[in-house]
Amino acid sequence: MPAVTGRSRPRSARLRWTTASELLRLVHSEPRITRTEARARLGLSSGAAAELIERLRGAGLLAEHRAPPAGPGRPTTTLGAHPRGPLVAVVDLRSGGWRIVLSDLTGGITEVASGVWGDEDLAGRLPAIAGEMARAVSAHAGRIRAVVAAVAGTVSGSRLLQFSTRGWGEADLGVLTGRIEPPGRVRLLAGNDATLGGLAEARTGAARDARVALHVLVAVGVGGVLLVDGRPVTGVQGADGEYGHLPFGDPELRCPCGARGCWDLTVDGRALARHLGAPVPDDPVAYAQGLLDDVRSGRAGDSAQRRAVDLTAHALGAGIAGLVNLHGPEVVTLAGVATDLRAAAPVAFARGFDEGLMRFRRDSPPLVRDGLYSRNGPVRGAIGLGVEEITSPAALAEWGSVTS
Ligand SMILES: [Zn+2]
Repeated sequence: MPAVTGRSRPRSARLRWTTASELLRLVHSEPRITRTEARARLGLSSGAAAELIERLRGAGLLAEHRAPPAGPGRPTTTLGAHPRGPLVAVVDLRSGGWRIVLSDLTGGITEVASGVWGDEDLAGRLPAIAGEMARAVSAHAGRIRAVVAAVAGTVSGSRLLQFSTRGWGEADLGVLTGRIEPPGRVRLLAGNDATLGGLAEARTGAARDARVALHVLVAVGVGGVLLVDGRPVTGVQGADGEYGHLPFGDPELRCPCGARGCWDLTVDGRALARHLGAPVPDDPVAYAQGLLDDVRSGRAGDSAQRRAVDLTAHALGAGIAGLVNLHGPEVVTLAGVATDLRAAAPVAFARGFDEGLMRFRRDSPPLVRDGLYSRNGPVRGAIGLGVEEITSPAALAEWGSVTS
């Protein structure tokens, strides 16, 4: 997920912002951290911390609030986002629609625009979304410094290669920042939704204690990513996570991606509907959630419904076992419909998973955990990536040169 645009600054300017970058990233990962704790973590003297925090307050990068008293000793303060500080915009491009959300350093989310897909494909719709983006940037007076596209499709750099659940082909995501004035001011990054969700879980979520983690997201189809030391392992093009198009499924079924036998078709709302003899649902995620809620709450008295859920949960567990055989993660995190499927049919999921593991893995299988961020994981991961961008020493030097 490389930055598409970028500028270089003199080395001395970047060095001046290196410790500032570390402090701001600490405040991002632990919002409301106290000044005392932050100072200890970064190994700063009291004087150096005071000077740094003062400089960052003056530059509109950090705010300080009085902390509630915690026993004897001098009162401390907590550190947070400056009310006029830099923002990250996330363009969330899902199968069902799109939205633009803004986040400050500490991850508070505000939605500024949204819509559903019409008859146009993504390339046809991107200019209108870019117009909303440009409006948001001008409404926030230059505070938006990075745009991150979280895409439910295959992404390489700033190009969408395939949005297979809607049958869309290539599109240039660079269009998203193309209407922002002045040109080149705002950096664009892009990532696949499952990859970004995995990033959020590995850095601050349910896999934060694992060196090697596997993340699996089911929405319309299934995607995922392997993370090592909090970094996604991606292919040479940056395209990754196409687990859904491994041939773990029914070889008779043709996938919208063009291949046969894809795992994608056996683990989501489309699979549940097919097992029930129902047509392909318009919104497979909502369809799956409705049915899984009914089964979990006991409202679904129908044994055909329970069987459909069991078959689908089994297919999910079995495919995950295949990925565990391949990658050997310490922890697997689940997100989206995957979490609901396992909860609705834990026995069928576990049977698929256990029976699919190679014998040597069964003695110490990885922990399979529900993700911490559930449906917001991709946006959380995108914000994390964007904050990393806007708090880089080079980006801070640029911000500082404008505000000081
Ligand atoms: Zn496929």
